[in-house]
Amino acid sequence: MAAQFYENGLRFTCTRCSACCRYDSGYVFLSPVDLKRIAAVLAIPESEVVERYCTNVYGSAGRRISLAEQKNKDCIMWDSGGCSIYDARPMQCRSFPFWPVVLESREAWTDAGRSCPGIDTGRHYTKQEIEQWLRRHRANREQERTGCG
Ligand code: SF4
Repeated sequence: MAAQFYENGLRFTCTRCSACCRYDSGYVFLSPVDLKRIAAVLAIPESEVVERYCTNVYGSAGRRISLAEQKNKDCIMWDSGGCSIYDARPMQCRSFPFWPVVLESREAWTDAGRSCPGIDTGRHYTKQEIEQWLRRHRANREQERTGCG
């Protein structure tokens, strides 16, 4: 198998700048595990999380649920203090930037770094750790397809 550009690992530490949580439309899909974790931290039933904070998204993968947005396109979970559910944030957020699309090539990684100041700074992740995040991200993505709620 060809060597990956991250053979010697990569650096990343989230600065919690919120650039990826605000002012831009996007989906943050939830798996059943994500939903359970959010419901637990908010101390409300999962059905209420779906009703108050989520939106349905229909596509080739069927129905999935995503966190909704505020009027200005901020994530519904964002407030002036940053992510209000940080410790229970969904796997999609948790596993960034170790996503297949970002790890496709050095160029994709560098490109992601243009909007994320945490890329190429801070903690060093080994290739094994990066691939473990990739596996977690993929497993969660599969679960999103089986649906929530
Ligand atoms: S843009 Fe990067 S550094 Fe800023 S909050 Fe998002 S992941 Fe963290």
